[in-house]
Amino acid sequence: MSDCLFCKIAAGEIPSTCVYSDDDVFAFRDINPQAPTHILVIPRQHIACADEITAENSALVAKCFEAIAKIARQEGLTGGYRVINNCGEDGGQTVCHLHFHILGGKKLSERMI
Ligand code: 5GP
Ligand code: ZN
Repeated sequence: MSDCLFCKIAAGEIPSTCVYSDDDVFAFRDINPQAPTHILVIPRQHIACADEITAENSALVAKCFEAIAKIARQEGLTGGYRVINNCGEDGGQTVCHLHFHILGGKKLSERMI
């Protein structure tokens, strides 16, 4: 997607602080961190939101979660962390490229569930 912010970040066209990268997954620090560690994990392939996950692309979601486990170890999140996906307008999604927030580095208090 030529006009997608996160596609451009994954392609290196817009700078970011990369913490993990492989052929399928890119991860970088959130520009507006909500916790001491706040990382966004995205598939390089453009998938707009969780609602667009299908049998054809779900392997990329699994790859994102494999990366999440690696990143958590790399970041020293030994006490745990939270993974969040916002989907669509009601879910609070503001960037329409599937992404998973990793939040950690402190005891997280606010919770919805
Ligand atoms: P959403 O609200 O869609 O779940 O999350 C989007 C996230 O992207 C927000 O936490 C926001 O701070 C982050 N973000 C938006 N623009 C940029 C950017 O240009 N660079 C980085 N690193 N993060 C961004
Ligand atoms: Zn995209």
